[in-house]
Amino acid sequence: MTKVREIDLRSDTVTQPDEPMRLAMSRADVGDDVLDRDPTMRALEDRAAELLGVDAALWVPSATMGNLVALMIHLRRGDRFIAPRGAHVLDDELGAPAWLAGGMPEAVDWGDWPGRMPVESVRQAARSGPYYTLRTTLLCLENTHNAAGGTVTPPDEHAKLVANARDVGLRVHLDGARLWNASVALSVPPAALTVGVDTVQVCLSKGLGAPMGGLVGGTPSFVDEARRVRKMLGGGVRQGGIVAAAGLVALDRIQDVAKDHTNATKLAAGLKNLGWEVDEPETNIVLASTPDIDATLTGLRRVGVLGLPIGRSVRFTLHRDIRPKDINEVLSRVAKLHS
Ligand SMILES: *Cc1c(COP(=O)(O)O)cnc(C)c1O
Repeated sequence: MTKVREIDLRSDTVTQPDEPMRLAMSRADVGDDVLDRDPTMRALEDRAAELLGVDAALWVPSATMGNLVALMIHLRRGDRFIAPRGAHVLDDELGAPAWLAGGMPEAVDWGDWPGRMPVESVRQAARSGPYYTLRTTLLCLENTHNAAGGTVTPPDEHAKLVANARDVGLRVHLDGARLWNASVALSVPPAALTVGVDTVQVCLSKGLGAPMGGLVGGTPSFVDEARRVRKMLGGGVRQGGIVAAAGLVALDRIQDVAKDHTNATKLAAGLKNLGWEVDEPETNIVLASTPDIDATLTGLRRVGVLGLPIGRSVRFTLHRDIRPKDINEVLSRVAKLHS
């Protein structure tokens, strides 16, 4: 029996750099970024800072390192930081915010909207108690919220959360690994979603398709410090322009994620027709479940459709390498599981 071509919807990180991107990488102008900066990395950092509406930005090898660098600068040992339940910084970074940045993490329950915490909870968490209680110093936001199903926080909600956090003396870090998706879904520039934050992290290797890297942005003095911390973590690279060139191509492609959102909507509707319980997707992630999720996961593997289990759901993530006709193929394969 010939093996069916697998359709990989585990993550938007599985994309392959295409020919134009590889060509840009091969032609990149490079220097030693640790000694005196690499020109292509500098160009990427300047462009990203402008897009994000911050004064300066620093390339990091991964979005995880971007979060870590920011949290190491924001937190002192024993400081509590809060984040919406299921946040990547809480659940998917091996406890690095505690282990390496010294923070005491606290998950805040979502309010009426998946992935988004109520303003009152932020104020409540920041309330100070007797001297022996925890001191909360940082709010971490996530837009889009991955584990909630790629849910979006619009600019007005973002502004409200940030204003309240500031009012009670918290600093604010935004995990914007998929900020591009939020920006396209809302038809607002990325900078409209970073208003008021101290620091922001974005990823180039998810929806935008670069092979690696992200950026962390903030004030020039934050970025000076971030450069030191990045080097300490082993994230200072030499001729990084080779990958920064891919990042510059990636930034030309922000609008392309609209196609992934369309595919997500189509996949969700199709799965619903097949009797799945499906959350209405807001961006490129579809969370869907069936009564027997274990059997479903086994079945999906058998028909060559790859997703990721999240709780009692399957997460299907749409990305650059998935074409509209692949969605029809996925749905016809899934239909076989039910026949
Ligand atoms: C993927 C992701 C990260 C980390 O990205 P890596 O490329 O795995 O380092 C951080 N935050 C969120 C919300 C993510 O989805």
